[in-house]
Amino acid sequence: MKTLLAAILMLISVPVLAQTYAIHAGTVIDPGSGTVLHDQVIVVEQGLIKAIGPNLTAPAGAVLIDLSHEWVLPGLMDAHTHLTLTELTGGDAPYESYFLKESTAYRALRGLYNAEVVLDAGFTTIRDVGNMGEFAMTDVGRAIDKGWFAGPTIVSSGKIIAPFGGQSHNIPPEQGPFWKYEYIDADGVVEIRKAVRTNIYYGAGVIKLVLDDNPYHYSVEELRAAVDEAHHAGLPVSVHTYGGEAADNAIEAGVDSIEHGFFLTDAQLKKMKDKGIFLVGTDFPRAHLDVIGTSGGILPEPAVLAPGIIDRLTRAYRIGVHLAFGSDTVMEIAGRTRADLMFDYLAVWRTAGVPPAQILKSMTTEVAQIMRIDKTRGRVAVGYAADLIAVPADPLGDIENLRRVDFVMKNGRIVRHGTQSTIGSYVNTP
Ligand SMILES: [Zn+2]
Repeated sequence: MKTLLAAILMLISVPVLAQTYAIHAGTVIDPGSGTVLHDQVIVVEQGLIKAIGPNLTAPAGAVLIDLSHEWVLPGLMDAHTHLTLTELTGGDAPYESYFLKESTAYRALRGLYNAEVVLDAGFTTIRDVGNMGEFAMTDVGRAIDKGWFAGPTIVSSGKIIAPFGGQSHNIPPEQGPFWKYEYIDADGVVEIRKAVRTNIYYGAGVIKLVLDDNPYHYSVEELRAAVDEAHHAGLPVSVHTYGGEAADNAIEAGVDSIEHGFFLTDAQLKKMKDKGIFLVGTDFPRAHLDVIGTSGGILPEPAVLAPGIIDRLTRAYRIGVHLAFGSDTVMEIAGRTRADLMFDYLAVWRTAGVPPAQILKSMTTEVAQIMRIDKTRGRVAVGYAADLIAVPADPLGDIENLRRVDFVMKNGRIVRHGTQSTIGSYVNTP
C-alpha cells in the first residue's frame, strides 16, 4: 500500500510533458500593451506562448481550442489576498479568536481550497499578504508548484511584520504574546532586519508590514531598514497603512506598495506617483463593509468609509498613481465563493470612474509589476507563461463580464473549459 501511494505521488510530482495547443481566439486583449486584435491564433508550447498571429499554421500534434466566439485575455491577478483566513464576524468572534482556534494545517487546507476556487474563476496569480499561521500559504504555493494540486501561482509574504502586538488589541499581559502565531513583533531597526530575514528564510516572496493598527507606528528609519533588507534580497515591500503620518513615513522610506490607503491625501498620492509607489487600494464594496463593520473601531462606519474609498480611488486614478487590484476578501457570505466576492470590487472601480482598459491592466500587468514577475506573466505576448482566460462577452464594454470566465489555462495546462469552447484535433488553419 505504502509503495503504491509512493508510486502515485511520484507520478504526480514528475512534470508531465506539456501538450501543444493552437487556440483560435475571436478577440485577444493584451491590457499591458493596450492592443485588441481579432481572429488570432495563439500557439502554446511547453507552457509558454510560442506565437500569436492571424494566419498561423499549427505545429504538428497541436490540439485545437476553439475560442472563436470569445474574448481571450491574460489570467487575472489579485495583489492582496488572505486565502487561509476567514475572518469570523459577529459579537462573539473577536479578531484574535482564530489565532487560538485554527491550526496551521487547517489554515493550509482552507488556503488550498480557496486557491482552487479562485483559479477556476480566472485568477491565475495571487499575492498572499500574511495571516497564514506558521507559513501555511507558503506551503500551499509549494504544493501547487509541485503539481500536486491545481491553483494559481502564489507569492506569499510569510508572517506580517508589525510593531508590538501585531493587529491584536487589548490582550491581557497574562495571556502572553500569542499573536506571534500570526505576526512577527519587530521594534527598532535590528528587530526589523531580523524579521525580514526570517520571512525570506521561510520562503516569502514579498515583505509585508502593518504600520498603523495601533496608536504607535513605524518610523522612517525603521521602514528604511525593511526596504533595504528586502530589496537587497530582491523582494518588494508592501505596507498596510490607512494614511496620515504612517503613510508619510512609508512613502518617504520608498516602499513598493501601500495597501488600503483609505485616507491618503492628494499630496501623498502625488508623491507616490513620483516615486513609483503602487496603491493596492483593497477598495471594499459597501455590502462587504456592512459585514466587516468598523473592524473593532479602527475604521469609520461603512456609510462614511464606502464613499471615502470610492473618492480616494477616483483621485488616485486621476493623479496617475500605479493601481494594482487587490481585494483583501476575508469573509464568508452564504452561497457565495471567495472569487464571487473578489469580483464585487469591480463595481467600486466602475463607480470611481476607472475605465475597463485600466481595470484590466490593474488586474494583470500592474500586479505582475509589483510582484516583479512582469517579464514572465500578465500579458498575452510571445515568451510569456500561457496563463490565459476567456469570457463570452467583451470586458472592455462591460467589465462585469469578467464574472463569466468559461476557459482557464495556467502554465499551458487547461484548468477549465466551459460550454462556449470546444477542444479537438487541429485540422486546418482557422
Ligand atoms: Zn489584508
